[in-house]
Amino acid sequence: MNDEDFYPFPLMENQFKLPKFANFEELNAIKNRKAGKDGSFAAPIVFLQNVVLFPNTITPLSFNSKSMAIHLVANAQAEKTSLIGCYEDPEALKNQNQMQCLPVGIEFVPSRINEDDPDAPSALLQGRRRVQILEMSENEGLIFCRVKPVRESQRISKETKALMRLCVKQFAKYLEMEENGQEEVLLFAEGAETPGELADFISSTLELEHEKRLDLLMELDGLTRLKQVARYITAEINMLELEEEIHNQVQSEMDRSQRENYLREQIAKMQREIGDGKSADPEILELQQKIEAAKLPPEAQNAADKEFARLRSTPSLSPESGMIENYLQWLADLPWNEKAEDNLDIKNAKAVLDSNHYGLKKAKDRILEFLAVRSLKPRRSHQPILCFVGAPGTGKTSLGRSIAETMGRRFARMSLGGVHDEAEIRGHRRTYIGSMPGRILQTMRKVAVTNPLLMLDEIDKLNADFQGDPAAALLEVLDPEQNFEFTDHYLDVPYDLSNTLFITTANTTQNIPPALLDRMELIEFPGYAAQEKIAIARQFLIPTQMAENGLEGETIHFSDDALQTLIESYTYEAGVRSFERQIGAVLRKIALLKTQNQPLPETIHKEDLQQYLGPVEYFPLVAELKDEIGVATAVAWTENGGEIMPVEVLVMPGKGNLQITGQVGEVMQESAQAALSYLKSKTEVFKIPEDFFEDYDFHIHVPEGAIPKDGPSAGITMALAMTSAVLGVPVRRELAMTGEITLRGRVLPIGGVREKVLAAQRSGIKTMLLPSKNEKDLEEIQQNVRKELQFHFVEQMDEVLEFGLLSKPLFSRVLSSHKKRKKDEQD
Ligand code: ADP
Repeated sequence: MNDEDFYPFPLMENQFKLPKFANFEELNAIKNRKAGKDGSFAAPIVFLQNVVLFPNTITPLSFNSKSMAIHLVANAQAEKTSLIGCYEDPEALKNQNQMQCLPVGIEFVPSRINEDDPDAPSALLQGRRRVQILEMSENEGLIFCRVKPVRESQRISKETKALMRLCVKQFAKYLEMEENGQEEVLLFAEGAETPGELADFISSTLELEHEKRLDLLMELDGLTRLKQVARYITAEINMLELEEEIHNQVQSEMDRSQRENYLREQIAKMQREIGDGKSADPEILELQQKIEAAKLPPEAQNAADKEFARLRSTPSLSPESGMIENYLQWLADLPWNEKAEDNLDIKNAKAVLDSNHYGLKKAKDRILEFLAVRSLKPRRSHQPILCFVGAPGTGKTSLGRSIAETMGRRFARMSLGGVHDEAEIRGHRRTYIGSMPGRILQTMRKVAVTNPLLMLDEIDKLNADFQGDPAAALLEVLDPEQNFEFTDHYLDVPYDLSNTLFITTANTTQNIPPALLDRMELIEFPGYAAQEKIAIARQFLIPTQMAENGLEGETIHFSDDALQTLIESYTYEAGVRSFERQIGAVLRKIALLKTQNQPLPETIHKEDLQQYLGPVEYFPLVAELKDEIGVATAVAWTENGGEIMPVEVLVMPGKGNLQITGQVGEVMQESAQAALSYLKSKTEVFKIPEDFFEDYDFHIHVPEGAIPKDGPSAGITMALAMTSAVLGVPVRRELAMTGEITLRGRVLPIGGVREKVLAAQRSGIKTMLLPSKNEKDLEEIQQNVRKELQFHFVEQMDEVLEFGLLSKPLFSRVLSSHKKRKKDEQD
């Protein structure tokens, strides 16, 4: 409260029409005058602004030291008299621009004037009672009024009591919410005896606008005032509740955002700590240096940067961190730039290949051509994919190794046998736990250069169940037009395989997925004749095995017939793998003798083998011992090279069915049907009754049932055996044949002649029937092998019968029993 709370004196001289008093003495006289009959009395007026004083309440007020009011107050305190607080009527001022006094004022007594601050003395004003202003007068700026105290009814109805109780309750709540409630204040309220008293007390405490307070002061009826106060409290409580609600809301929002901020700060702090810790981690530093040194191509470098960033924000002990490190390790370990210098010196290459390998002329020539082209035109987009095809032990891998050696490249092998899933070649995505790059990149990491010679073994053993997928991935690996940006699922960035030289191997071409076969250049490794095997043994296998078994420097000789026996009776193969093993086994026994200081044999003879290796293991399938009816010998080409393959035919009464057994593939079954149809078409020539084929069943059996057989090349053999069986004419023994048959009896050429011829020779066959068109293939076969066999080239099935059947058809038990049966039926 300040100076403005008082109107300056003299005030509103012309506005108030008031009687004048003489002076202070007069004033005192009036003041002391007894109250009128109606209880009215006179007192000086102090105009109050802003502060509304209620009966039975106390309010501090400060004054301007120069104002008249403080003198009035000081005088009143000294005289222990009261003053009347008055208020101007705001409505009158607004509407009529007139200064008017409100009709009700407050009688108050000042107490405790405090003059500590001489410029702004203050006093406590103690409100006594409401007064109605009856009249006013003014003298030299001092205004006096005559007032009548307002009496309030002391009778209190139940409703009023209830209202009072309610109000006290509400007031208690209000105080509680305000949180500044002192207990005395509430006690005071509870002690109020009339509604007016209660209303006045509460009004003085409530935070109300000035106008509302004034209205309350003006209201003479206590109950009406209390009702109004009750409304105000309720409104106030509502307001406080709303405030609290808003406050809570704001608080909780603040809380949340503060919490989030706090957490974020903590995370950042932790990350800084972890990050700092991580980059200080020697392993990660090392990894970083390794990756820098690896000079990754941009895409891979990007991936590495990203992963390093991720690694820094991932807790060290989390599994994810391990996965990221693993990935980065892969990036660091793979060769990206390292290269071995290519040596494309053809002379040197020829020398190395010749000194390491016996024979294999075709393969060697092709390799030399390949190297020549490469030295002339290093980057050819249409590089062939080489595929070495041949039985095990025919020298495919060792030749691959030699090529790497001559070119100065590192060599690695990777087997595709049983691969049935693309992921084995291309890896698993990193989302899989424990995922890894595929085998290609695993191998690249092992060789650690970008230009090794990679040999992909057993491409024909890619699992056929799932086909397509691994084959397609493989094509991407092998195809020079695609492999410069090979993508492994795990690595997820392109890897350049175009500097790698791929050579694939297969035992047969039959099972190579067609898409791959199409792109490959096949180089055949046909297997060796016994003579060649002996030569290989002398030049390579025996010296190697001697060295391996610690017999270097010793002179141990294998006689020719010992080697021959090893080949024929202890091994059964087109290549020399088991042969080499058996030589090794013999030499191990001799090494044992050496350690026991016993005399070593100088020469190993055929007869000694049993002692070293035990009894003979193989009794080679040999030509039939006598001429048989319904049995003919085919020569087939299997994974192990060539093999002779007896075909047996039985004709028995039935309904004209054809049965074929012995693990026979579809092509061979069709071939058997064709052979039968051929025979049927010859009924007239052979004088076979027309209805014969309706009354008899044919059963063809191809023994050695464990080995799957397929292909059309047994066609002429089956036709011969069937004819023999029907006509009852034996087939010439020591005769083997190969060739496809057509329905009209033409003989078509077949593949694998060399292997077949070698197999026939191994088995003691003397004569061989071959399709005329295969005559040229004999050139590949060594002279001495060719000399041991007699070849006949045939174009028609008739020629086969001519050579094969021992005599002109004379007697057939089958045919005669058929005739007999027919006759019986007719009778
Ligand atoms: P593949 O890969 O065809 O199964 P390998 O290359 O493993 O056959 O050959 C088996 C063994 O036979 C090796 O010790 C190899 O040196 C030897 N070998 C095969 N062919 C020849 C050859 N023409 N000259 C010398 N050694 C040979």
